[in-house]
Amino acid sequence: MNKQLFEKKRKDFRQFRDLDHYNQSKGNYFLMPFNFHRINKNREVLINEIGDYLFVPSGTYESIVKKELSQDENPELYQDLISNHFISEEIYSPNIDLIATRYRTKKLFLDRLTSLHIFVISLRCEHTCAYCQVSRVTQNKEKYDMSLNSIDKGIEFMMKSPNPNVTMEFQGGEALLAFENIKYAIKKAQELAPIYGKNINYVICTNLALINEEILEYCKTNQVLISTSLDGPKFVHDKNRNKPNCSSYDLTIKGIELSREILGHDQVSALMTTSSHSLKYPVEIVNEYFQQGFSGIFLRNISPYGFALRTEKNRYKTEEFLHFYKKALKRIIEINKEGHFFTEDFSKIILTKILTPFNIPYVDLQSPAGLINGVIVFNYDGAVYATDESRMLAEQKDYSFRLGHLLENTYEEIIYGEKTHRISQVWANETLAGCSECAFKVYCGADPVHNWATQGDIYGFRPNSAFCNKNMEVIRYLLELLDRDIEASDILESWIK
Ligand code: SF4
Repeated sequence: MNKQLFEKKRKDFRQFRDLDHYNQSKGNYFLMPFNFHRINKNREVLINEIGDYLFVPSGTYESIVKKELSQDENPELYQDLISNHFISEEIYSPNIDLIATRYRTKKLFLDRLTSLHIFVISLRCEHTCAYCQVSRVTQNKEKYDMSLNSIDKGIEFMMKSPNPNVTMEFQGGEALLAFENIKYAIKKAQELAPIYGKNINYVICTNLALINEEILEYCKTNQVLISTSLDGPKFVHDKNRNKPNCSSYDLTIKGIELSREILGHDQVSALMTTSSHSLKYPVEIVNEYFQQGFSGIFLRNISPYGFALRTEKNRYKTEEFLHFYKKALKRIIEINKEGHFFTEDFSKIILTKILTPFNIPYVDLQSPAGLINGVIVFNYDGAVYATDESRMLAEQKDYSFRLGHLLENTYEEIIYGEKTHRISQVWANETLAGCSECAFKVYCGADPVHNWATQGDIYGFRPNSAFCNKNMEVIRYLLELLDRDIEASDILESWIK
């Protein structure tokens, strides 16, 4: 240090600081673990490890951390910080047991491991959708339908899940092309369920083109739910979901009506996928769901896996999806203002995490991640994958998340195997660089498959991760609405009551 600088520092050091610095009423508190996020230029949100949040003016976080806050000068904020566990007047908060209980509640889903068991019952399909995430084949039943032997082994595997409540979901291709095998599988599962103490929900994912009264009567008798795809009004749906020589939309709507008639209105759900074509029609897509009598819509971006993005026209930027999402959400809020209950279901999951002590075990927003912990996939050929997305990668000859084979490996080899072990090292966002210091981590999740598929690395790099960019902006936007828009906030809160 040169002499001049040394003299200056010495003088600074010898000067008295202003009176405020010696105010003993300030900073008499201990910091509890929490982070912050700037939700706009005037406001920031403080969020702790159990998801409690507090909106404060920008700069508050800094003054708390620098111990500049005083109970005398700002009693209201001080009390809010104490009661929401951001600061404590004792080195060990007297509420530590309460906080531990709240933390356990947020992670309760870990007590009930793998619930969702996806059986890719057939790879055959009669649609040729623009964004189809898997390769599909139209013939060769023997080769592309799941064998009865694999079905048996998949059911035995499911019975070993520690979770007493499991879901058996049949996917394709078009699952109904292998309806006889579905019936076989359900019968077998029904026989074994009481022996293993399982409550099983059955779901068939279908484009509804092949649905008929006989199938639906079977579903009614056996309490099977129907999940279909509806991408929006006819001009959007038919462009996205091509069925040679006829309108997929017409078949879907007819199928929804018939299914509701036989099974009941709420036994049929629909999912949409946002293609690049859909991006132009957020309002029309929301209106379609509303007019078709659904009580909500799940705004889903296109999956960055498999065959979905093989052509340039299927690709779009995260910002484009976010723009679409916000416009659609605005329309949804308008519908609610008109007096109707109508939700956006991705937002609803995040809002449940924000506004309640609970966590919704949604596979894409979990930490530890939903793969294996929440879902496991049995492919048509008997191979076992960590998620549905993992088997889409496999269709492109990327077997990174292939955990084993139903006919070759035991439950233990698959669930506790070397691959699961390796994935588990990066499946908790609390341990990942970028996420561990992110205020939103308690509302967000981790997705090693997405990291691998988009960045070539299961650990992932948050700054340019589409998964991170989307979740961060959706969470920020919802928090901003909760903070600044009383009417919207009341509506969002009503969704989770
Ligand atoms: S993925 Fe992004 S938004 Fe989610 S916890 Fe990690 S850093 Fe935060």
